[in-house]
Amino acid sequence: MSKTVLITGASRGIGADTARLFAAQGWNVAINYNRSGARADALAAELKAQGTAVMAVQADITDVRQVQDMVRQVQAQFGGIHALVNNAGIAQQLLFTDITAEDWDRMFDVNVKGMYHCTQAVVRGMIDSHVGKIINLSSIWGIAGGSCEVHYSAAKAAVIGFTKALAKELGLSNIQVNCVAPGVIDTEMNAALPPDALAQLKEETPLGVIGQGSDVANLIYFLASDQSNFITGQIISPNGGLVI
Ligand code: NDP
Repeated sequence: MSKTVLITGASRGIGADTARLFAAQGWNVAINYNRSGARADALAAELKAQGTAVMAVQADITDVRQVQDMVRQVQAQFGGIHALVNNAGIAQQLLFTDITAEDWDRMFDVNVKGMYHCTQAVVRGMIDSHVGKIINLSSIWGIAGGSCEVHYSAAKAAVIGFTKALAKELGLSNIQVNCVAPGVIDTEMNAALPPDALAQLKEETPLGVIGQGSDVANLIYFLASDQSNFITGQIISPNGGLVI
């Protein structure tokens, strides 16, 4: 029987590349989206045409009821959820002195509270079945701190603390919880970065390239697979050597 993955924020970017990889490996794929419904539907149609059992499911992960409803829909369609990829996220570049309380709350609502909502909704089923993989998306800035991204860096550091603590709590339930902390990846999230800032980041990266969504998807898939059964509570950073 095929395993099922729920990927939040899979309408585009890293999440969409991750959905494609799980589909290619024969998993049932639940594509969560918030605003990009047409793109999520197009991705679902693409994967369905390749023979994947797939569904696109709308939920704003900051809303606990929408998240619970999403998880019920996925369970009704596919049964148990074997892997949860907490990928949905937002970023924002601002001087610290310009960050408003609303900016701060929004950053934590999506990147931290959304992850908490999704994990709580999924994890009880994993505990009951004594199997599960949870993969949380942090960032190099959550490890190293990014100038003009204090709220983003703080939220992504919270993802790391969440991962480590939950891994300890869920170990005896045979649930592995790990964190992927990417470097600079070519997605719409970085579209607002000035070209010279992007060029400088590329220059500072030992491998001399900006990462692709597939570079991150490969690691996420490994952490969801049985190949990583002895790995939990770890922060792994596909970043081309930018942060070592
Ligand atoms: P994108 O901006 O390309 O995509 C973000 C995704 O998150 C979209 O699918 C969007 O859905 C979804 N999303 C945003 N808010 C919500 C919400 N409230 N509820 C549900 N879904 C939501 O981002 P990336 O693919 O680049 O990033 C994916 C993850 O990787 C993020 O957590 C990001 O912080 C992290 N990351 C990215 C890096 C990069 O360089 N790109 C580097 C380090 C970490 P929709 O469009 O449907 O609203």
